[in-house]
Amino acid sequence: MSRWSGGRMSVHYETVIGLEIHCQLLTETKIFCGCRTAFGAAPNSHVCPVCLGLPGALPVLNRQAVTCALRAALALNCEIQPVSVFARKNYFYPDLPKGYQISQYDRPIALGGRVPLSDGEVRLTRIHMEEDAGKSLHHGLPDSDRHTYLDFNRAGTPLIEIVTEPDLRSAAQAAECFSRLREILVALGVNDGSMEEGSLRCDANVSLRPVGQAAYGAKAEVKNVNSFRFLEKALDYEIERQRGILESGGRVAQETRLWDSATGTTQSMRSKEEANDYRYFPEPDLPPLVVDAAWIASVRETMPELPVARVARFIRDYALSEYDADVVGRLIPGAASYFEATVRCGASPKTASNWIQGELRRKLKDVGADDLSTAPVTPAQLAELTTLVDTNVVSSSVAKEVFEEIWSTGTGARAIVDARGLAQIGDADALAALADAVIEANPGPVAQYRAGKTQTFGFLVGAVMKASKGKANPAAVSDILRGRLDAKQGQSEPE
Ligand code: ADP
Ligand code: ZN
Ligand code: MG
Repeated sequence: MSRWSGGRMSVHYETVIGLEIHCQLLTETKIFCGCRTAFGAAPNSHVCPVCLGLPGALPVLNRQAVTCALRAALALNCEIQPVSVFARKNYFYPDLPKGYQISQYDRPIALGGRVPLSDGEVRLTRIHMEEDAGKSLHHGLPDSDRHTYLDFNRAGTPLIEIVTEPDLRSAAQAAECFSRLREILVALGVNDGSMEEGSLRCDANVSLRPVGQAAYGAKAEVKNVNSFRFLEKALDYEIERQRGILESGGRVAQETRLWDSATGTTQSMRSKEEANDYRYFPEPDLPPLVVDAAWIASVRETMPELPVARVARFIRDYALSEYDADVVGRLIPGAASYFEATVRCGASPKTASNWIQGELRRKLKDVGADDLSTAPVTPAQLAELTTLVDTNVVSSSVAKEVFEEIWSTGTGARAIVDARGLAQIGDADALAALADAVIEANPGPVAQYRAGKTQTFGFLVGAVMKASKGKANPAAVSDILRGRLDAKQGQSEPE
């Protein structure tokens, strides 16, 4: 589709994005040897002849790594392959001690699958297993200006690579896909979700094509994006860069580009036209990986509830709105179990959800935390407090004060309310006396209300609340005030 604008024909472009995600599997030991996978150990302290690629050392596949891969594949609705094959991917790089990486190539462990998005889904092409490389340390050592150091602790860490189809149509959608994948992998206990430590890495393939054209355009692969914020930024930059090239009649080069967060740009790293020939061949030291139905069934038995299923359950079982269920069931870390515990302790679901999204989240943010499981107020304490509100013992504004005190002292809500005499004035006579005093003291607003300017009613309610030092129940105050103002209307002086 094209249209005329300002005398020049301008083509509209559609963005096409596909992601390749490397996910370190949370196993105790590496994929082909018994070395630990712990992050942050002293350099080269978790190495052995196998992961250092010494001659004659034989790899043995770690079953726990396969189980992790199967968990991910099941959660993402892939077709698990009964037989998959590890291959040698040959290339030279200093952090690759063997001179090849063991990776599944033409026979991966899983094909197909999908990631749910807020508007639709992204299809997966495949999931394959492979080993991670070591790390080159270019900075931070006294002689870093002259030497690069190598740390092989990471070499042989089990990975899965998840490849999506080019189904994504914007930077924001790509970021959502990545964050949904992260959420699922973390919920499965398969990955720790840390982009900073590199346990989850995302390469994004981007191209543009004229709207209406079926064929994809030439793509660039953007690497080195190590935070969610940067993923969207890097893609937005890359989309505009390509648009600029296409609009001025140029051709986008098929290449790998590196995101540079310092400049907010992507820079060409290498051309894909002179693509590497990895000379793949099946790894002679590893038999094909056979996954039988019993293995799949045993993994299926230990699958946790996934975020999307939990959100649906929250809507169904607790009558939460779609929005509330999504925020509490999925988006706030630790909120889902906190919420359910609070409801089990007697809070109403809607009230618990409001407190979690409101006060709790705000207080946590104040102390620089986000995970609800770290909140000093327990679900039982929150439930006790919300019950006091629901039974009109305290108003919601007083409840916020009480909440602050529970947060800082750990004392229960009832004990705080009793000790500080914060219980609401429920006594109708006492409220009536306060209402009369306010009517007496505010002849102007009262007259305006009676003349039909009902906006002043809120002011009068506020005045009674103030007179009660916040201890009156606003609904009861409204009732009493309305009764008195409307009843005495006939007796008021004409203006
Ligand atoms: P390559 O041969 O460069 O490795 P693949 O076809 O294996 O490319 O795809 C790698 C990734 O790039 C996948 O996530 C895929 O969805 C994505 N992709 C493929 N073609 C395009 C394109 N034209 N535009 C954007 N992404 C693409
Ligand atoms: Zn090892
Ligand atoms: Mg490829």
